[in-house]
Amino acid sequence: MSSRKRRPVIAGNWKMNMTPSEAKAFAAELYEKVKGKRGCDIVVCVPAIDIPAVSKVLAGTAIKVGGQNVHFKKSGAYTGEISADMLLDAGAKYVVIGHSERRQYFGETDETVNLRTKAAVEAGLHAIVCVGELLSERESGITTEVVSRQVKLALAGITAEQMNNVIIAYEPVWAIGTGKTATAEQADEVCGIIRNVISGLYGKAVARQTIIQYGGSMNAGNAAELLAMENIDGGLIGGASLKADAFSVIVDAAQ
Ligand code: PEP
Repeated sequence: MSSRKRRPVIAGNWKMNMTPSEAKAFAAELYEKVKGKRGCDIVVCVPAIDIPAVSKVLAGTAIKVGGQNVHFKKSGAYTGEISADMLLDAGAKYVVIGHSERRQYFGETDETVNLRTKAAVEAGLHAIVCVGELLSERESGITTEVVSRQVKLALAGITAEQMNNVIIAYEPVWAIGTGKTATAEQADEVCGIIRNVISGLYGKAVARQTIIQYGGSMNAGNAAELLAMENIDGGLIGGASLKADAFSVIVDAAQ
């Protein structure tokens, strides 16, 4: 399936870093580095409390803002949670869902990933849905099975039309924050498997236009090779998104 028509999406995941004041200053610095680079969509997924400040700094620019999690109910007695409407009202257009750190530390399951994905797209957010295998799963040779299952469960009940607002981020858990990157071939292979799963669910046309990112220690040094691969349409970037220079090099690699 040709990737010619897919516009890459480079998304930073700031994780739990930056106070609102720091975020404001960093967003301004980042804008200066990437302004005028029009070959990909650029997103920064920031802590929820930073969304208003970052949205204000980036208003009118090509850089979009996202959250890092969303609750699946519209409102109610869910202390500490944030709804899709709240994210949108604060200025977010994207949200990361099912990041491995949420699966590992906060009890996220394939079922809650699905509920959050549905809530996000129904509200009009772009959902960046994370999937990926553990090292033990890769070593047992079950990567395809694990990732295919995660994708199918995450997308249950999502319509073909809603797929316009869904990005899948393939993030092998063993590569996140570890400095170990999947080789370009390994990453492309699994992104291709994900595209085939989407093709099975929605048909070839939807699969051809779905953005599938790679994430896992992507940095200024390895981005070009990863982003050149047929099935990799961008990156979800953690550590390197906290350095304006490195993030800007990754944006260049996606041009
Ligand atoms: C991430 O947080 O999604 C991520 C891929 O982190 P890192 O780039 O630091 O591995």
